[in-house]
Amino acid sequence: MNLEHYIDGAHVPSVSGQTFTSLEPATNRPALTVASGDAEDVDLAVRAALRAFTDGPWPRMPGEERAAVLRGIAAAIEARDERIAELECGDTGLPITQARGQARRAAHNFRFFADVISSLGEDVYRVGSAQLNYVVRKPVGVAGLITPWNTPFMLETWKLAPALAAGCPVVLKPAEWSPLSASLLPEIMEEAGLPEGVFNLVHGIGERAGAALVAHPDVPVISFTGETATGQTIMRDAATGLKTLSMELGGKSPLLVFDDADLERALDAAVFGVFSLNGERCTASSRVLVQDTVYEEFVARLAERAARVRVGPPHDLATELGALIHPEHYERVMSYVRAGVEEGARLVAGGGRPDGLPEGNFLAATVFADVTPAMRVFQEEIFGPVVCVTPFATEKEALELANATRYGLAAYVWTSDLRRAHRMAQSVEAGMLWINSQNIRDLRTPFGGVKASGLGREGGRYSIDVYTEAHIVHVATEDLPIPRFGLG
Ligand code: NAD
Repeated sequence: MNLEHYIDGAHVPSVSGQTFTSLEPATNRPALTVASGDAEDVDLAVRAALRAFTDGPWPRMPGEERAAVLRGIAAAIEARDERIAELECGDTGLPITQARGQARRAAHNFRFFADVISSLGEDVYRVGSAQLNYVVRKPVGVAGLITPWNTPFMLETWKLAPALAAGCPVVLKPAEWSPLSASLLPEIMEEAGLPEGVFNLVHGIGERAGAALVAHPDVPVISFTGETATGQTIMRDAATGLKTLSMELGGKSPLLVFDDADLERALDAAVFGVFSLNGERCTASSRVLVQDTVYEEFVARLAERAARVRVGPPHDLATELGALIHPEHYERVMSYVRAGVEEGARLVAGGGRPDGLPEGNFLAATVFADVTPAMRVFQEEIFGPVVCVTPFATEKEALELANATRYGLAAYVWTSDLRRAHRMAQSVEAGMLWINSQNIRDLRTPFGGVKASGLGREGGRYSIDVYTEAHIVHVATEDLPIPRFGLG
């Protein structure tokens, strides 16, 4: 199958004619030939989007009219629910049952931001009867959206929906390892009646197509999700243009289990939190910190559950853990497994390729116990089905361990002591924290991280802040004093 760019309402190859090959994770056989975008392709896409911004109807439409189109996009996604899930499953190695959830969430993203934009008010500040100051939310301009390869369709829509809702035309640059599901977006947008030039898609390698989008002078906002190191490069590159940046970056999120917790539910959350979505999940609970009084019991039960996580072909309905995205990423995850063993962590489950899956990027659910903060597996994001377990004695030690990495995306606290739960919630360095719960999202709430996990927040009105400028107009409704200069 061949994938092309989508610019100004037309499917087009790269100006250079160049392409790259994308592999199927379950077999590592070449599956797709994809147009490889460069600065010239990005420029064509940005110019189309800029025309849509300066001359087109989209930024000027009442929010309610844009919302109607977004609801149409949601319906068009739902009509392709199964197809999107199948493409995503084949292209990313995500188990089909979990890929279905992502397609549903993608539709929900558009419905949700349709509601946000149709109910959004703007602010007025009155100064007695003398002055009226009102805020107008203006779409900021062409939005550059750069997305990662994990749950690609859902994450693309997580950016597209608010950017479009705010009135911004967009240029989307999907990840090169998972370009397939984005190829359904053009027909979805057309079916919903989105005006031409508002949605543009440029495939390509990050350092070329992505970097060109960041460097383009007519793109005032970049919303990026990906690795912390890439985020740092993008920040440097965006500095020249003084761009607005929204950065959703890596994580190494702790799940804390105190001995008064409901251990069965904490165990369910720990297993699901790190092995769902193949462990390729930014908010994965990849560090489990357990109070020493229940530590050995918890480790044994976690290892037993991990050993029973069903690893298999992504299309198999019984599969819980599919194939990792790419042989390069597989090798990277395996290098961490080797590092864990070399550094002296205790491997209690997994650690290698499961029987019966000789090809493709399959790794058994892997558990390391007795992991210390000095180890690389404790500090670095592995982004695969590998969890590190560390004991703690006191609340103070639990907090120190929780905060002992450079990341701060999510955290999960399991305890039946309400006061302790809230104490931890105040002190754990994380953008998002769940108490006695797995990662259940409420799209109205701010999503994002602290420290090396990101800058800014998206979600609900926080996303609208990213894609709009708050323009303030001051109106004198009485004669306000004017100091009189120049009277001699
Ligand atoms: P990545 O940083 O390698 O790539 C992300 C995107 O950036 C891709 O589209 C890539 O082509 C592009 N890119 C690469 N170099 C670029 C450059 N110099 N300029 C512009 N664009 C460039 O990330 P990945 O490996 O695709 O994704 C996995 C990472 O994403 C993990 O670290 C994960 O934690 C993170 N992530 C974070 C969140 C979050 O919300 N915080 C969500 C999902 C994934």
